[in-house]
Amino acid sequence: MRTSEVIDLTEQLGGVIRRSALVRRGASKRDIAVAVAGGGIMRLREGVYAVPTADPNVLDAARHGGEVACISALRALGIWVLDKPDRLHVWLGGKGRRHQHSKCTCIDHHDAGGAAFGIARAALALVQAAACCDDEVFFAAYESAWKRGMLSRTDREWIRRAVPARIRWLVDLARADADSGLESLLRLRLIRLGVSLECQVLVVGVGRVDFVAAGVLIIEVDGRENHDGQSLRHKDLVRDAAAAALGYETLRFDYALVVHEWRTVERAIVARLRRHGVPVVGSTVTEVN
Ligand SMILES: [Zn+2]
Ligand SMILES: [Zn+2]
Repeated sequence: MRTSEVIDLTEQLGGVIRRSALVRRGASKRDIAVAVAGGGIMRLREGVYAVPTADPNVLDAARHGGEVACISALRALGIWVLDKPDRLHVWLGGKGRRHQHSKCTCIDHHDAGGAAFGIARAALALVQAAACCDDEVFFAAYESAWKRGMLSRTDREWIRRAVPARIRWLVDLARADADSGLESLLRLRLIRLGVSLECQVLVVGVGRVDFVAAGVLIIEVDGRENHDGQSLRHKDLVRDAAAAALGYETLRFDYALVVHEWRTVERAIVARLRRHGVPVVGSTVTEVN
């Protein structure tokens, strides 16, 4: 077998292949040795080969013994994940074992089933994240995956059965139309305070606003990199004035505040809502008279 065929076979299987799979498809020991010597494929560990162009996380997971999993898989699949994983999460399968490799900081997952190589499917990665991460991480990723059309009804039912019972309510709460991870996060946090949140609301006379909490408080979250220039600021001020004339209050936050300084955001929202007589439960923010 020519080296180009060895490379094609490996690529067809997602970039990583076992020697036994190559042999089954007609490659001899010598063909494999020639392909490795020429740099067409590389040896990851005993009996496992890969094309050098494969995703570095897929290569490391294969060195470790399995598939990219959990939040590492969710990110690789383009699903919104709250925290950037600093360690690689790897699914080894129910019975698989980890292999030593250099610079290993991987986190093992041993969910049932046989792991191969590559990236775990979205539904499995979500179930892994449900057990491994914060509830909010799971919830925002679940809505993101659903919105991207990556979860069938069967997947969603399977996830609901497979996640820990204490977070099943999050699966029931999730919607298919959440526009961003930030929206998922904000909605969940306000629900925990007993406050309803509408998203992307058209307020006549104001325009489309990001969120309206409890029907009285407009919350705008600035996702722009930098709030460039006077014209945008002027537009915001005009909108705020129009909203105030209609009896709304407006609070503005940026992405970093919502994600990293939630206590500050919560205090502001709770204080405004209480002033409007909206009951807020579950907040540790004390009332100031
Ligand atoms: Zn994990
Ligand atoms: Zn490792």
